Amino acid sequence: MSDYNAIVIAVDLSNESAMIVAKAREVADSDAQIHLVYVQDPMDSVYLGVVPYGPVFVGMDQVEGRLREELKEKLRKLGQQFGVPENRQHFLNGTPAKEIHRFVEAHDIRLVVLGTHGHKGVNLLLGSTANAVLHGATCDVLAVRIKDN
Ligand code: AMP
Repeated sequence: MSDYNAIVIAVDLSNESAMIVAKAREVADSDAQIHLVYVQDPMDSVYLGVVPYGPVFVGMDQVEGRLREELKEKLRKLGQQFGVPENRQHFLNGTPAKEIHRFVEAHDIRLVVLGTHGHKGVNLLLGSTANAVLHGATCDVLAVRIKDN
């Protein structure tokens, strides 16, 4: 039995998320409370090209609303695939690392599992979210290496 009885799996809902969840399940106690957490950054719509940076356009709210529903559906499906009940699927808003830290403290989480794109050679370059989560974390962090093709 490990100390990891309350775990957050941080997912960005990309295709790699399932692999990260599968890995987290391997290290979790069988009776561990597993929380799936996705944080929607208000800037995501801009990055994804859904919303142009600058003036607001007519219909922006609908486009954003649709994006939000699609992401929620992805989170639901991921939860379903791995048997994470709906009350442990969390769709949060804000800056991912900040919201993950807040969640960790509020729920007495012992481990955060996230993905990282491994880089060849001696240097492991963490992505910006992974880096920010690691730096302010008050619990252990497991970075699951995502293999780049
Ligand atoms: P990045 O630092 O952007 O390469 O992301 C590294 C990992 O952080 C991802 O594989 C996810 O596990 C997690 N992550 C990134 N963005 C989010 C997000 N918006 N919400 C929750 N977790 C995220």
